Amino acid sequence: MQVIVTWLCAALGLSALIPGAAAENACPPNALGVSRTAEIDTTGGPWFGSPRGDKDFLAPGEVVLTFDDGPTPRYSRTILAALAAHCTKATFFMLGEMAAEHPSLVKEIATLGHTIGTHTWSHPNLKRLSEEQARAQIESAFTVIEKAAEQPIAPFFRYPYLSENESAVAHLQSRNVAQFAIDIDSFDWRTRSPQSVIARVMAGLERRGRGIILFHDIHGSTAGAMPQLLGMLKEKGFRIVHLRPKASIQTLAEYQAPPAKAATHEARPRTRWSVRRAAQRVTNR
Ligand SMILES: [Zn+2]
Repeated sequence: MQVIVTWLCAALGLSALIPGAAAENACPPNALGVSRTAEIDTTGGPWFGSPRGDKDFLAPGEVVLTFDDGPTPRYSRTILAALAAHCTKATFFMLGEMAAEHPSLVKEIATLGHTIGTHTWSHPNLKRLSEEQARAQIESAFTVIEKAAEQPIAPFFRYPYLSENESAVAHLQSRNVAQFAIDIDSFDWRTRSPQSVIARVMAGLERRGRGIILFHDIHGSTAGAMPQLLGMLKEKGFRIVHLRPKASIQTLAEYQAPPAKAATHEARPRTRWSVRRAAQRVTNR
């Protein structure tokens, strides 16, 4: 009975409730787990992922799981359950407006030990904004998401549409925020099929042998794919690297959310819009 309770607690991410048992001991033998925790020094705003990141940051076989655009109760919890069942950890690049709508989910993700970075307030293409508008999009997200998490979050950022703006790059460098690109795109925004997501990721890993993988926790395709995909990564011998920041973000008092209307991009409605948009298979990286 103790074994069953222990395994169930681990699967639900409740290892803290297991008397005298370390989380890693509680994991089922076929769990993916975390093979390495990489402590990231974000001083100077280093890049991770292709093409600007250090190609040797990950060793052959190493994988980083990342989820953008959430959180949303509709899919994030399914993904969290799959991660917990494999005793593994991911990085969530959240939107400020989603965090404002679902603060308890942000806190839940933080409490489970996943890493939280940001992805702007409302997902604009930063190239289309003024310098101050872009800064407000970035900084307001950090402030609101950290408040929702009720604990320090990582100085990690990913550009919407992977579209960087040189002034934003300079700003993030000055703020010591690490900038994340990707190595492998799951293309989960383009399909409703979990099998398509799995095929894309495994093909990408076969080609590159390692990498930072981009998913979105606002898509049913990713939620559906995750249990089988994590099992497949384990079977194929891939190893998960959990990214943690050496120091947390220092939020700026002048940027409380939300940013001024003018900075909120081309009238992007909120959660339901994201999910609907995903269903319409519009590019949504
Ligand atoms: Zn995005």
